[in-house]
Amino acid sequence: MNKVFLTSLLLLLSICVTGQSKVAITIDDVPNTKKFAVDNYRSKLLNKLDMLNIPVTIFINEGMLYKTDSVTKNFNLLKQWIDRGYTTPGNHTFAHSRYSAAGYKNFTADIINGEAITKELSALNKKPLRYFRFPYNDLGKDSIQKKQIEAFLEKRGYISTPFTIESSDWVFNYLYEHYTKHNKKQEAERVAKSYIDITLKYFHYFDSLAVKQYGRHINQIYLCHDNAINADYIDVLVKRLKEDNYSIIALDEAMQDDVYKQKNNYNKKWGVSWFYRWMTNKDEIKKLMHKEPEVMAIYKEYKEVQ
Ligand SMILES: [Zn+2]
Repeated sequence: MNKVFLTSLLLLLSICVTGQSKVAITIDDVPNTKKFAVDNYRSKLLNKLDMLNIPVTIFINEGMLYKTDSVTKNFNLLKQWIDRGYTTPGNHTFAHSRYSAAGYKNFTADIINGEAITKELSALNKKPLRYFRFPYNDLGKDSIQKKQIEAFLEKRGYISTPFTIESSDWVFNYLYEHYTKHNKKQEAERVAKSYIDITLKYFHYFDSLAVKQYGRHINQIYLCHDNAINADYIDVLVKRLKEDNYSIIALDEAMQDDVYKQKNNYNKKWGVSWFYRWMTNKDEIKKLMHKEPEVMAIYKEYKEVQ
């Protein structure tokens, strides 16, 4: 075998083993009505997504509609989000309560409150409201609480939505908004650049874990929020992902991956990636968590600015 042939064969093999990376993008805490009011009643994130031509799933807190005085405008904003052909609507509770603290009775009431308008607007668009995401990804303080809510969600026709990758976008966003407000443009840009770089590192990290654990790429699910940093930079993030050979897929498609049929073994209230919830060896989980991309510096800066 000559060298060129061997090299191409190896390349082909590695593509076959690993395949193309796919990711579904999910956006929580929609609609950000406070930012909407500040930005003269337009959603910069929604406008940007209009140009990107990618599917996104939005997790809605209907309580956001009443956070500012302009309830009618906020209602129209939610309607716009759900009317878009590229969005899949999901319930994220009305008031963004924490399940382990709220308890079963209050939390299930919060779920039902959270679907009133969303369900109607979704039906108008012939979109079923099937996805639910727990605020803080808090699925309960123990296995009993977890089982109770799982049964409730199933009965109500909801799929509890996992995520595999998140990159603390809310911390970056806090700093980004802080520096923007204080006219520190360079600082804001530095934070935004760091957000994109670290997010890509998280993608690469969890992709490498997938190949290690499952011998292939899996359909990843990325979790981020309706906030300023994504409004200004989601196009940059999507561009970088595409340059890295990612294709952006809908949540429905992502969930077809068999990894999502695995049992969630995690029975604590913390919002860890489903990657770890599928594992059982606690030492191994700890080891892998320690190897995640470094975000200590940004948390430190966040605390200082606070
Ligand atoms: Zn949330």
